[in-house]
Amino acid sequence: MPEYRTAALVLRTFDHGESDRLVHLYTEKLGRVSAIAKGARRSQRRFPGTLEIFSKLEVQIVDPPRAQLMRLEGAVLVEPGEPLVQHLGRFAIASQLLEMLDRLTGEREANPELFHFSAGVLTVLCAERPDRLLALLVQLKTLARLGYRPQLVACAGCGQPVSGRDRVAFDVAHGGATCPDCASGEAPRVPASLLARLEVGIRTPLRQRGELGIPDRAVRQAERLFSRFVLFHVGLELRTADFLSQIRDLECLDGKRARGDTAPASGAAPAGAAAGSAGRA
Ligand SMILES: [Zn+2]
Repeated sequence: MPEYRTAALVLRTFDHGESDRLVHLYTEKLGRVSAIAKGARRSQRRFPGTLEIFSKLEVQIVDPPRAQLMRLEGAVLVEPGEPLVQHLGRFAIASQLLEMLDRLTGEREANPELFHFSAGVLTVLCAERPDRLLALLVQLKTLARLGYRPQLVACAGCGQPVSGRDRVAFDVAHGGATCPDCASGEAPRVPASLLARLEVGIRTPLRQRGELGIPDRAVRQAERLFSRFVLFHVGLELRTADFLSQIRDLECLDGKRARGDTAPASGAAPAGAAAGSAGRA
């Protein structure tokens, strides 16, 4: 029967029957797959410490003929997802990424570039202080790799450059920035410089986002634009978007609590995890 060995990210797991777990994975070679982990509920030794959300694994999967589900035969932990679970802001951003992989990719549609990008984002998140711009850029970069790249510096209708203008229409139905000739009347007008900086942001490593010079107020404006963009083009509202906005109101996302003396123990990532990830991101 076909057998695959591939790198994988754990998206979700569910109890399955009395002794098994059903694992949703985003894999390098197969794209998104579901596989049954036999005996994973009954025995911790079968898959020790591997089947946790956000974990990066090397897995061995078999695809039995006539079986509905693939079977997870083995899993080796490459990078734990635990540091992402321990900080609310990191957890929220990573959850949004995984939700996009889970809901916006087709089953068994391999996209190795998207896999490597996603694995890299999780590594960066382990080491970076999460903020709103980080969340926004992860969303935009992921959308671009899923084929939903918004037009930001050229008109989505006619292609002429719009970045030299002061303000520009952002027409969700057209696919982004639009010149005055192509824009519909209702499209909101936004600073062309903001869209131009986001265009640079999509092509810039996440760690260098501070150099983009995008103020927090502009990030909030962009969040509203792109939540409408996602709804229109993808046809669904991300469940994690609501979660993200709620914890933004609590100012957990930017790590302010973690800097204060009253920071909860869970507010800071383990130093070992951050240091261990720094070299690879
Ligand atoms: Zn135009």
